[in-house]
Amino acid sequence: MQTSNVWNFGPGPAKIPTSVLQRAQAELLNYNNTGMSIMELSHRSKEFENLNNKTQRDLRTLLNIPNNYKILFMQGGGNTQFSAVVYNLLAAKRHQLGEDLEEEFNPPLDYLVTGSWSSKAAEEAKKLYDNINIVFDVKKLKGSYGSIPPKEEWKLSGSKAAYVYYCDNETVNGVEFNHIPEIDPSVPLVCDMSSNILSRRFDVSKFGVIYAGAQKNIGAAGLTVVIVREDLLIRSKIFDNKNSGIPAIPSMLDYKVMADFNSLYNTPPMVSIYISSLVFEWLLELGGIEAIEKTNSIKAERLYEAIDNSKIYKSPVEKSVRSKMNVPFRIQQEELESEFLKGSIELGMLQLKGHRSVGGIRASIYNAMTLEGVDFLIEFMKEFERKHCQ
Ligand code: PLP
Repeated sequence: MQTSNVWNFGPGPAKIPTSVLQRAQAELLNYNNTGMSIMELSHRSKEFENLNNKTQRDLRTLLNIPNNYKILFMQGGGNTQFSAVVYNLLAAKRHQLGEDLEEEFNPPLDYLVTGSWSSKAAEEAKKLYDNINIVFDVKKLKGSYGSIPPKEEWKLSGSKAAYVYYCDNETVNGVEFNHIPEIDPSVPLVCDMSSNILSRRFDVSKFGVIYAGAQKNIGAAGLTVVIVREDLLIRSKIFDNKNSGIPAIPSMLDYKVMADFNSLYNTPPMVSIYISSLVFEWLLELGGIEAIEKTNSIKAERLYEAIDNSKIYKSPVEKSVRSKMNVPFRIQQEELESEFLKGSIELGMLQLKGHRSVGGIRASIYNAMTLEGVDFLIEFMKEFERKHCQ
């Protein structure tokens, strides 16, 4: 069902389920019979504490998150996590190696670079730390993003690494891993799932840290969900010692502080947490991740089929790693793209323009985009092709 006559294909902030927005609207002036809006409540109130806990519980149920993982509600988006993981996991590694370590502490941080977001994360890490190992960078290998090299070509650091980092779904480039990378089991796997969390089932226990900004499949911008294995919260005291020469972790980036305060260290993004709680309820009512995963597969299959079966559209991404959430494509005659975008806007299909760094067209088809919306786009694509391909 549409709230208005538009189909929002935006990459994030993205479409939020209509029923969620309607409920938020109905509750806007009076949250849970408090007589106040959620925006006006104290974050120390019982109502908010209940909401905070319930939202975490529902996420745990949806993703089947084991008990030895903490769910943190942080701020600053995915970009802030690019540096938070460096601080927190170096501290955890230092603890793992022992407080009385005699040799120099300089473990490599392994980065798999499959698109613009993992590239940005690696660049941010370089600002804080000098031993960054680029396991591979697809753009450097192939000239552009759109594939993932076979495992035999990965240059992982093995057990020496403090972590291995990757982005499960590259929002700009439309590249998604179709498996969880196999790495040394003693090394934590860190994953940016900003644009595909909650879209399909996966095994949380394979990860050390998972994080995701809320503004795609979780809800509204402001909240960043972090899921962290508890043993990684135990960190070396050296990191708290000003004279150690190692920078202390800023409190707002500190997973342990956030975990100790149940994410209420400072004023949290309450509205965004509230919207997430409604999205989680919506997903649970639909039948959980298994149910949405089925619809997501159908949506993506239909759209890629339309691209592959056409004479004018082409996908820049290898079939095995095509994203089910962000579908970038080009028109062979690139000068037709602006006409395509203009025509789509006239029919109410918004935000289909590709990211400014790559151009072209990109349809983001997150959980809240319906099959009906995808079919509407496909019909338009066919019509456009008929017009230009006599
Ligand atoms: N990682 C991925 C995969 C993203 O898609 C984005 C934003 O679109 C980010 C990180 C950065 O997120 P934020 O804008 O929340 O900092």
